[in-house]
Amino acid sequence: MIELRELDKIYSRPALSKVSLGLHEGVVALLGRNGAGKSTLLSILAGLAVQTGGGLALNGRELGRSRRALREAATLLPQDPRFDPAVSARTLIRHLLRLRRRKAAIEELLEVFGLTSVADAPLGTLSGGTRQRVGLVYAFAADTPVLLLDEPTQGLDPWERLRFADHLATSAGGKLIVYSTHVISDVEALADRVVVLDDGRVVHDGSPAELLKRAPAVWTAEVPDLSGLPLVTSVRRTADGLRARWTGDRATPRAEPAEPSLTDAYLAITGGR
Ligand code: ADP
Ligand code: MG
Repeated sequence: MIELRELDKIYSRPALSKVSLGLHEGVVALLGRNGAGKSTLLSILAGLAVQTGGGLALNGRELGRSRRALREAATLLPQDPRFDPAVSARTLIRHLLRLRRRKAAIEELLEVFGLTSVADAPLGTLSGGTRQRVGLVYAFAADTPVLLLDEPTQGLDPWERLRFADHLATSAGGKLIVYSTHVISDVEALADRVVVLDDGRVVHDGSPAELLKRAPAVWTAEVPDLSGLPLVTSVRRTADGLRARWTGDRATPRAEPAEPSLTDAYLAITGGR
């Protein structure tokens, strides 16, 4: 669907460097620390920003200067949408979709995301998590072949997150959905593919299982303190000291191997700097 070849985006310094990705139907999770380039990549995919180097093709057609085709194919839910606080969810979504000349099952989606009772209240009176769900209703209702969600689970409680996951799973068919997140459990359950950005570069591109294979050795032991341990990923107080979990060297003969997680793999491949 969307082909990126050696894409660069330079502001005062490079935000993306030589990013090459073939994005086809399926659910792609985008991981990376703050400042890694996730939002920049999503806004280029949405046709709202233009790369400074490299090529971009949509459905096999090279994009020239115009981003119109991309804007029509894709919907972006920005990381921090600034909606008019005086307007209601229903009015906002109807307005946004009219701009796109699309009819959609808005009422059904308001119901799915538990917004029916607040759909006519001014957005300024809603909590952050509720406003986040309004954004999700808009994005899903737009029903474009490409859906770009910038940190869509930010501010959602565990129930809301579950509802989002369900809806993502059922609506993914035939679409390309790219979403950025810091929540690794969102990746495990939801994504067919994980792209990890680090300092503007792609440092991983593969399935969650392939990411897990890149996890380093993980160890656990009871220790008096954390001195001498490499990268400690969790620590818990016990009766006689601390139960630490870390990645890297075995560090102490008392260490026992532990099951690596996606978080371990993610920390290991983005921890180089
Ligand atoms: P992420 O979403 O992964 O946190 P961003 O894509 O927002 O990362 O930012 C990547 C880099 O580009 C950062 O160094 C950020 O400061 C810079 N950047 C992003 N947007 C702009 C902009 N509009 N103008 C200048 N620099 C920007
Ligand atoms: Mg961002």
